[in-house]
Amino acid sequence: ATSTFDAIILGAGAAGLFCAAQAGQAGLKVLLIDHAEKVAEKIRISGGGRCNFTNRDLDVRAPHKHYVGQNPQFCRSALSRYTPADFMALLDRHGIAYEEKHKGQLFASTSAEDIIRMLLAECATGQVAHWQPCAVKKISFLPSSADAASAGSYEISTDRGVVRAPRLVLATGGLSIPKIGATDFGYRIAQQFQLPLVERHPGLVPLTFDGAAWQPYAQLAGLALPVEISTGSKKERMSFHEDLLFTHRGLSGPAVLQISSYWKAGTPLQINLLPGTDLAALLQQAKARSRKLVVNELAALLPTRLAEAWVSQQPELQRPINEASDKALGKLAEQLSRWEITPTGSEGYKKAEVTLGGIATQALSQQTMECKTQPGLYAIGEVVDITGWLGGYNFQWAWASAFACAQAMAQQ
Ligand code: FAD
Repeated sequence: ATSTFDAIILGAGAAGLFCAAQAGQAGLKVLLIDHAEKVAEKIRISGGGRCNFTNRDLDVRAPHKHYVGQNPQFCRSALSRYTPADFMALLDRHGIAYEEKHKGQLFASTSAEDIIRMLLAECATGQVAHWQPCAVKKISFLPSSADAASAGSYEISTDRGVVRAPRLVLATGGLSIPKIGATDFGYRIAQQFQLPLVERHPGLVPLTFDGAAWQPYAQLAGLALPVEISTGSKKERMSFHEDLLFTHRGLSGPAVLQISSYWKAGTPLQINLLPGTDLAALLQQAKARSRKLVVNELAALLPTRLAEAWVSQQPELQRPINEASDKALGKLAEQLSRWEITPTGSEGYKKAEVTLGGIATQALSQQTMECKTQPGLYAIGEVVDITGWLGGYNFQWAWASAFACAQAMAQQ
């Protein structure tokens, strides 16, 4: 026999769990389906196991500032109706302790498990039916020509039987970390219903470099320092002040993860390795008072290994600083404050925290997350072409889009 529900939600990750709980608590009979063995693996591994679940610095008047996509303004409505303070209040109600780290980032004090348990408890309160692991084989929309009871419903064949509902929510997330269950399923369903898709790319991802130009830096793996990093031409230029980390294959750390979401293949990055410092003036002062080697003077300003890697490439700097030419010191200052390098690529979905692109926002209502051309079909969370900055912004989008969708479904 076919079971019927008021709403079926595909994907029990951050967005799916929260939407199911909210819709269930608003009185809908909800079925939540996920194919993975374990629930919410991405929440479990997020934020180094402590889940950076939101960001206190989200500007509620202009929340889209922290998001990337063809139309970042799309996320404003949902983000302004369900704010970081709302999610913090939910944690407070469950007695879950959290703390602020860097730049407004809020983490669970103990473990990401606390947040998963909270979401499951909220689903239980909403009497959500939760089938996991459960594979979805086929989805059909039963048009109005079908019998009266099922007209306008979605019929889903799963390995636990056939189910129907007038509302279907895609919460299947992005492509990153395939080994814990990420698939392109949401995009395929979107295509089945002729929804436009924005091309997908790995986001918040380490960038890779190879070839001779990278050789001097390959030995710096493990070294970290604060930088200012930029990309893009004038109009669309983006910059971040964050830590840079050298890896075996290239560059990572928050600076690079952030800029990777804006970086276009084939274009360079500009990195100021000494932000907020007038390096040219400091080198001139050192020249006037010191007889130490350039590399030693530089090592007072930068990590020693980086200073060594830099100076080793330039014979005219391998001497006491008082013997170095003004031109060579000027060039050094210029290079360090505007290091320009072009990544060869990225570490890809294996290492990316998010997927850029996805279901085009023009296909959806920003108030309800419902598809404009396909009644009863909704998309929330990362499957949509909205990608947040590093720092809790992606989970906040998952919670807020889920909330908007649940409210809309319950009010219908
Ligand atoms: P997900 O949470 O990915 O959930 C999607 C669900 O759909 C999964 O459970 C999956 O099994 C299921 N699914 C997929 N395909 C199918 C299918 N065919 N059938 C049935 N089910 C399916 N963001 C932050 O804001 N803060 C952080 O600290 C943070 N840390 C991160 C760390 C890592 C290592 C990674 C990879 C990501 C991190 N993110 C972080 C990003 C954040 O995890 C995601 O943006 C967020 O989980 C998206 O929520 P979602 O519900 O849309 O998708």
